[in-house]
Amino acid sequence: MEPLIIAGPCAVESKEQIEKIASGVSKLGIKFLRGGAFKPRTLPDSFQGLGAIGINFLTESAKKYSLKSVSEVMDTEDLELFREVDVIQIGSRNMFNYSLLKKVAARYPKKPVLLKRGFSAKINEVIGALKYLKKYGHNSDVFVCERGIRTFSDSLRFTFDVGFIAEMKRRFGNKIFILADPSHAAGRKDLVFPLALSGICAGADGLIIEVRLESEPICDAQQAINLKELERLIVASKKVFLDSRI
Ligand code: PEP
Ligand code: MN
Repeated sequence: MEPLIIAGPCAVESKEQIEKIASGVSKLGIKFLRGGAFKPRTLPDSFQGLGAIGINFLTESAKKYSLKSVSEVMDTEDLELFREVDVIQIGSRNMFNYSLLKKVAARYPKKPVLLKRGFSAKINEVIGALKYLKKYGHNSDVFVCERGIRTFSDSLRFTFDVGFIAEMKRRFGNKIFILADPSHAAGRKDLVFPLALSGICAGADGLIIEVRLESEPICDAQQAINLKELERLIVASKKVFLDSRI
């Protein structure tokens, strides 16, 4: 038994960038490659993602290295572009978008869904979103991801809620996968390690980690770790995973 790891850049920026990361990630024994092509940015002038061509770069790189691709769909209009994507990500901002949940479930009932917890979502609201997927025909794995919530605390970008992870595991056991996203919770690369390991300790089945090359990423640069750091994180998380499940 080992943690499931999804790794890759915040956004697909070029064919070369995603291929290099795919190659590095696959050498570490990782099976899932993430990369956003439609990005939910706070400001309209920020890079919005490469769109359809970004999806192509991601899925081609993933196939080349026998990885499963993971990417976020933001709009029901784009659903057809995700035919070759292996895992459909529903982002934190869209967890409450019931129309999107219904259409993802109906269009891709057999594709695994990565559902990120809304950053203001209560546990019953997350469970409600899971029920929407099921009711509208989704019939494959669901990965629910804790990625930090909004609280009064301004220590980090978001407050990483390990209690949510522990309680979801208690309620659902092995019926759904619970993942921890320490990258978006921390917002800083130096805190990705402790948050990742605390998520695993709390019962997470795996991690989703933002990874960068040496050049500066266009989005979420401060929280992305490089491939060497990722390698160390995997070693540590495998150990904590085993130690905390005895
Ligand atoms: C992401 O994973 O790239 C992302 C935008 O995450 P979230 O929806 O959790 O903010
Ligand atoms: Mn990001």
